[in-house]
Amino acid sequence: MKRKTKLIHGGISGDLHTGAVNVPIYQVSTYKQEGAGNHKGFEYSRTGNPTRHALEELIKDLESGKRGFAFSSGMAAITAVMMLFKQGDHILLTDDVYGGTFRVMTKVLTKFGIEATFVDTSNINNIQEAIQKNTVALYLETPTNPLLKITDIKAASTLAKEHGLLTIVDNTFSTPYFQVPLTLGADIVLHSATKYLGGHSDVISGLVAVNDDALGNDLHFIQNSTGGILGPNDSWLLIRGIKTLGIRMEEHERNAKKIVSFLSKHPQVEKIYYPGLPAHPNHEISKRQALGFGGMISFDVGSEEKASNLLSKLKYFTLAESLGAVESLISVPAKMTHASIPKERRAELGITDGLVRISVGLEDVDDLIEDLKQALES
Ligand SMILES: *Cc1c(COP(=O)(O)O)cnc(C)c1O
Repeated sequence: MKRKTKLIHGGISGDLHTGAVNVPIYQVSTYKQEGAGNHKGFEYSRTGNPTRHALEELIKDLESGKRGFAFSSGMAAITAVMMLFKQGDHILLTDDVYGGTFRVMTKVLTKFGIEATFVDTSNINNIQEAIQKNTVALYLETPTNPLLKITDIKAASTLAKEHGLLTIVDNTFSTPYFQVPLTLGADIVLHSATKYLGGHSDVISGLVAVNDDALGNDLHFIQNSTGGILGPNDSWLLIRGIKTLGIRMEEHERNAKKIVSFLSKHPQVEKIYYPGLPAHPNHEISKRQALGFGGMISFDVGSEEKASNLLSKLKYFTLAESLGAVESLISVPAKMTHASIPKERRAELGITDGLVRISVGLEDVDDLIEDLKQALES
């Protein structure tokens, strides 16, 4: 099955009982048992729900995994994955991970004795040097947010395997349409499905896929024990969103490339970050491991003042957190998504006050370019 077909026919399509072409919303908490313990595969909706199950089968198929799981948010998914570990374990993470991931690792999981170190994983030597005796997992985000750095998933997971570590990849920015980490050696792939997978700024959710049965059983045990599941309505919305992921990703990227070409020539733009640019330091790796460069662009206009001027003049780019939806969004990472990261740390990472990030939507790209032009020049 080719990629676009899988988005529509992967997982469980339709309803066996009625012939409905879509999986129905099973708005139900419990299931009748014929005798104690004798049920049709579903007993209680925290443990399993048919609509959520259809979504879990779909993400499993899209990510070429063995088991899939749906959670109430990307952070719930990340937290559930971290519950695979125990007190005294050490996790090595990409340095400019999503702000919420940095926060849960440094402010919440530390209370349970799970240690974390953050390194620039786009340089494999940094991973090698940071592995400790108690390191159990390597957690990658690639491309990163907001600097769009790329880590070589194959090289990193090979190194991780040599040291007996699990490799976890946050695949939110690329989506399985462009990048399939489990086929590159990763053990666990996860998403904030709130972004491209949902695609319409209407649902908060997280998805996970694993390529190992034992890991799948452990994660199901955690999902059922801790209970951060996705409800049937939201599961249905995600299944619906995912059907158009292919055409959306292609169009996001087509628009992004045209905007990058416009911004690259604009005198008000000091620096531009996009993996599709041949000048991007990890361009070759990105080309090798992904089928597309995506729809996220960051650029530096030089100062906080210039960034806020730009924001106030734009018409079609909505100032908002989040990304990956049909409408174009703009954010200032230092003030928004990365505000929970201390200022000194942001400076180390290169997240300046003049850095803006855009999530290119599906509007007509000529309107988007016209809008950026008038805002940059006023
Ligand atoms: C948004 C995001 C998350 C967190 O997901 P939520 O659905 O907001 O909980 C994690 N990783 C990345 C890369 C994100 O963009």
